[in-house]
Amino acid sequence: MPLPSILSGANSCVLCGASATGEFALCAPCQANLPRIESSCLRCALSLGPSPPNQRLCGQCSVAPPPFDRCYPLGDYVFPLRELVAHLKFHGRFSIGRALGHLLAQRLAPRYGATPPDALLPVPLHTARLRMRGFNQSLEIARQLSHHLHIPVVRGYCERVRASVPQRGLSAAARKKNVQGAFRLVTEAMKNTPRHIVIVDDVVTTMATVQAIAYLLKKEGVERVDVACLARVS
Ligand SMILES: [Zn+2]
Ligand SMILES: [Zn+2]
Repeated sequence: MPLPSILSGANSCVLCGASATGEFALCAPCQANLPRIESSCLRCALSLGPSPPNQRLCGQCSVAPPPFDRCYPLGDYVFPLRELVAHLKFHGRFSIGRALGHLLAQRLAPRYGATPPDALLPVPLHTARLRMRGFNQSLEIARQLSHHLHIPVVRGYCERVRASVPQRGLSAAARKKNVQGAFRLVTEAMKNTPRHIVIVDDVVTTMATVQAIAYLLKKEGVERVDVACLARVS
């Protein structure tokens, strides 16, 4: 699936100040230098470090695989991806969301060429948080993916029914507990159960949030659930 070339025009890179193309917030060298996850678990994208090349799954996924099938992060949650995501999330820098969303779309395109997923599902924010922040960063990323990959964004299918405290700073066990019962599916919002859904999130850490949603989707009969995110914490 070819991606449209980036629009021409002048802009400056948010990282180094060099001129960037079109609406892009990052110059080409800074794009190329974004932290990648080189050798990672086939299923959850956890960095496997210097593991033998035949090791395709992390310890956790080989023992107890998560309810989602694949996780595709743009890169590792380190400088400068970490700072870029923070600027999008906490300062509403949408030009960064557009640039990173476009790069993530380029990463996903070859995987979804022949059989694109049915829908993109941004991780919902609780209405109180949404009111406070004014936007949902996951929806902004999903919109970019939708624009470039021509996959529809579903809204209103998954709701956050309980406001959980921010996951940052919580232990893995506390994160899991924090999102238990936090989401519900509004099945009436969909005519038919989609076959293949991609959950879209900004940063994936312990996976507690995306696992909670993936679990609900699988229970509802969705055959394949992937996760696309800007950054994966290793
Ligand atoms: Zn730059
Ligand atoms: Zn894994």
